[in-house]
Amino acid sequence: MDTHRKFLKLETGATPVRLIALGFTSDGRQLLTRGGKGFHGSGVFFRPASDFFTSLASCISMAAVASPTVLNPKTTHYEWLGPPGAAFIVTSLPLVVLGFNAICDATSCSMLDAAAILSRVPDTLRSSLAHLPLAIGIEVAWLVFHCVLYLLPIGKRVKGTVLRNGKALTYNINGLHAFVLCHVLAVLLHFVFRPVLLFGEPFDLSQIADLFAPLAVAALLLSIVGSVILYVASYRSSKVLLALGGNSGSPVYDFWVGRELNPRIGQLDLKFMCELRPGLIGWSLLNWAFVASAYNNGNLTLPLVLVAGFQFWYVLDALIGEAGNLTMMDIVHDGFGFMLCFGDHAWVPFLYSLQAKCLSVVRQSHPVQIRGSAPLLSQLVGQLDLYTGVCIALHVVGYIVFRGANTQKDTFRRDPSDPAVAKLKIMKTSAGKSLIISGYWGICRHPNYVGDWLMTLAWSMLAGGYVIPFFQPVYFAILLIHRQLRDEGQMLEKYGAEDWKRYCSHVPYRLIPYVY
Ligand code: NDP
Repeated sequence: MDTHRKFLKLETGATPVRLIALGFTSDGRQLLTRGGKGFHGSGVFFRPASDFFTSLASCISMAAVASPTVLNPKTTHYEWLGPPGAAFIVTSLPLVVLGFNAICDATSCSMLDAAAILSRVPDTLRSSLAHLPLAIGIEVAWLVFHCVLYLLPIGKRVKGTVLRNGKALTYNINGLHAFVLCHVLAVLLHFVFRPVLLFGEPFDLSQIADLFAPLAVAALLLSIVGSVILYVASYRSSKVLLALGGNSGSPVYDFWVGRELNPRIGQLDLKFMCELRPGLIGWSLLNWAFVASAYNNGNLTLPLVLVAGFQFWYVLDALIGEAGNLTMMDIVHDGFGFMLCFGDHAWVPFLYSLQAKCLSVVRQSHPVQIRGSAPLLSQLVGQLDLYTGVCIALHVVGYIVFRGANTQKDTFRRDPSDPAVAKLKIMKTSAGKSLIISGYWGICRHPNYVGDWLMTLAWSMLAGGYVIPFFQPVYFAILLIHRQLRDEGQMLEKYGAEDWKRYCSHVPYRLIPYVY
């Protein structure tokens, strides 16, 4: 790797005085700062006394020259096929959300309707208009509610990784509280208080399912407006820390990947708050809304309850480990632009809930008999057959691999001497960090992605012979392969070509042993 380094370390006698240490790769993609998690580097060392003032002067002039170009180097390396690719993605992804809404509506959920998609999308938009103001109100209130919850002085406050300006931001870790509160509120509103909130009738979660299309359109509009505001706001000062990949100067490209790294309003970190809360918790609640809807329509089945239960658990699991997400690519590398804003607010809740939506809409051959004599639970358990058992087993295997791999890596990164990981084989790198090369991380280079994908496959299989729910594993495979390639590119930069080659010889497969 051709690396230009402007790395300065001042030592005065026995006590080293570290002033600033900056470096960046020739294409400006990665800056290195002093010490700190996620950074590495070696430097030119200036000895005390005689060199001190010279060093200080160069440091100051370097800082002057550095700002803002060194802090925010121009992005010269494009991903996503550059600006044309970004323009295509920005226009097509909202159409995908609308398209699936149109072919999987309140009456049917069949790929056979895909042929009529061109007429059904405008129909969906037209029929959403009547409830659009209400839906926009709900979406805005939902977002504000989560901002307020984030700011409440509950939960832990945890420092994130050291940024390239040498600072580390503090984050509120109370997503789990938000998750529990939202679900408890939903249960109380549905079963106990039943206030008249929507359609002039006592509240029932199925009313949210009835509003699905207007809510999806509202989420789309809000994520577009939000991304425009974020993009414009990123120009407010030259001191704003930008994402290394989002400062190309191409408006469409930077709008898509996100320009500002950590947009904040006071303590409120917009990117981190949105990453796991409004969208993921909303996804789980939408699923339960479809369960309520199926129950009301006499269409409730075990697979639907399992899908809602498994995805509820998936979101809960993510929020239990919320602090672990501070090292995720999205938080560390990506700016907050349309990619994450739209993904969090529109894509995840309104496409990931397709399996539950399909199962609640499509008339099932053996729904539970709500007014029958046998209790609901025993009727649901009575529906367990071999096929459903295989789906459950696949989900469990996927979850064990996903959770096991993530926990193994997180534990190792926190404390390599922890007895749970101390026996794992590791490979030392010249950057100082070690990489695990046995256990889950010896099977392939991203076992956590494989486990994650297996779960989406199990959820889609639960939807029986319907094609539409398989959209998630297909799309997710593309996302994870792209993510794996991006991550490996970043690891190559972090660890250097030689160590990367060595690591690949220890762990030759990316995702599937002997295949890929
Ligand atoms: P990872 O959690 O896999 O993090 C990648 C980082 O892990 C690398 O950059 C490297 O960082 C470290 N690492 C990689 N290999 C090793 C090794 N052998 N030993 C030690 N450290 C290693 O990826 P993500 O942040 O992308 O994903 C986190 C989770 O979120 C995943 O389980 C993923 O499936 C899930 N996810 C789910 C999505 C959804 O829509 N449901 C979307 C995106 C992600 P370093 O060396 O610097 O520590």
